[in-house]
Amino acid sequence: MYPSRFRYEAPRSLNEAIALLHGGGDDAKVLAGGQSLVPLMKLRFASPGLVVDINNVPGLDYIRADQDGTFRVGALCRHAHLEHSDLLRAAQPTMAAAAPLIADPIVRNRGTLVGSLCHADPQGDWASVVLSLGGSVVAQGPAGKRSIPIAEFVTGPFENTLEPDEIAIEAVIPPAQGTRSGGYLKLERRVGDFATVGVAVSIETTGEVVTKAGIALTGVGGSTIGATQAAAALTGQPLTAQSIEEAAELAAQAARPRTDHRGSAEYKRHMVKTFVQRILEGRQHAEAERAA
Ligand SMILES: Cc1cc2nc3c(=O)[nH]c(=O)nc-3n(C[C@H](O)[C@H](O)[C@H](O)COP(=O)(O)OP(=O)(O)OC[C@H]3O[C@@H](n4cnc5c(N)ncnc54)[C@H](O)[C@@H]3O)c2cc1C
Repeated sequence: MYPSRFRYEAPRSLNEAIALLHGGGDDAKVLAGGQSLVPLMKLRFASPGLVVDINNVPGLDYIRADQDGTFRVGALCRHAHLEHSDLLRAAQPTMAAAAPLIADPIVRNRGTLVGSLCHADPQGDWASVVLSLGGSVVAQGPAGKRSIPIAEFVTGPFENTLEPDEIAIEAVIPPAQGTRSGGYLKLERRVGDFATVGVAVSIETTGEVVTKAGIALTGVGGSTIGATQAAAALTGQPLTAQSIEEAAELAAQAARPRTDHRGSAEYKRHMVKTFVQRILEGRQHAEAERAA
């Protein structure tokens, strides 16, 4: 199917893009990688009157670490850029684990992390990863910039808190206070598919003690789920078989899966528990090897 008729603009600056969005009101949409918006338009699930393509806006294609360790991903940074980034591999283990699991190489060459956060698909992998890391989105509109924690940014399936004339210019991951570790595991029916179940775990340790933890779930509810009680069960103590079991069980309880063609609710819940255990036990083994 062809999309409905729309006006297309490709501004060359952020201010111009924001002005166009401001003029377009609720009828305008930003186009980044187009890997979610274009299919929606072709199916006529979305019919914006104005599409503002930001691909010609300079200076948005970056992965950067500030001196204090704050990590920034610009709005035009593609999934593939993240997948092949040495900086990401060195500083952000949970993100590095997720990057090669997003879709397929063709989608990864165009799609963006920030676009994925804005799209807010409950089966989108990046929202869980960024939520587990306590990240945020920086939005810029006519009134200037504001920072929105990801937990407040994604408000429901395909819903975010951006104003119609705001552009998400970057995703921000706060600096780690201790040593950061973690992972992302995804159950998919075949390579390149959306998650049947996805689990992001990010922890920070000082010595042996877990000082901060985040666990978030993909595809097992109406939107990305932050398993806050599960994460709390890990903090303030070293990782033990008991704390891992407790966190995994609490994460499974936080999931709200539905039985569908991908599997039963019970199976998906079981996979959440298994993935939390696998990620944390893998990390525990790595620690033991380092200490030996
Ligand atoms: C075949 C296929 C398989 C896929 N598999 C997966 C998968 O396994 N896991 C996964 O997570 N995703 C998957 N995706 C989605 C893909 O990751 C998209 O790239 C991503 O969801 C959206 O990023 P984008 O840059 O393409 O955004 P676009 O398609 O350009 O935009 C998506 C939405 O976000 C808005 N938007 C985008 N950028 C901004 C911005 N900077 N500011 C304000 N609004 C913005 C747009 O207006 C639109 O509403 C798949 C897509 C396809 C086509």
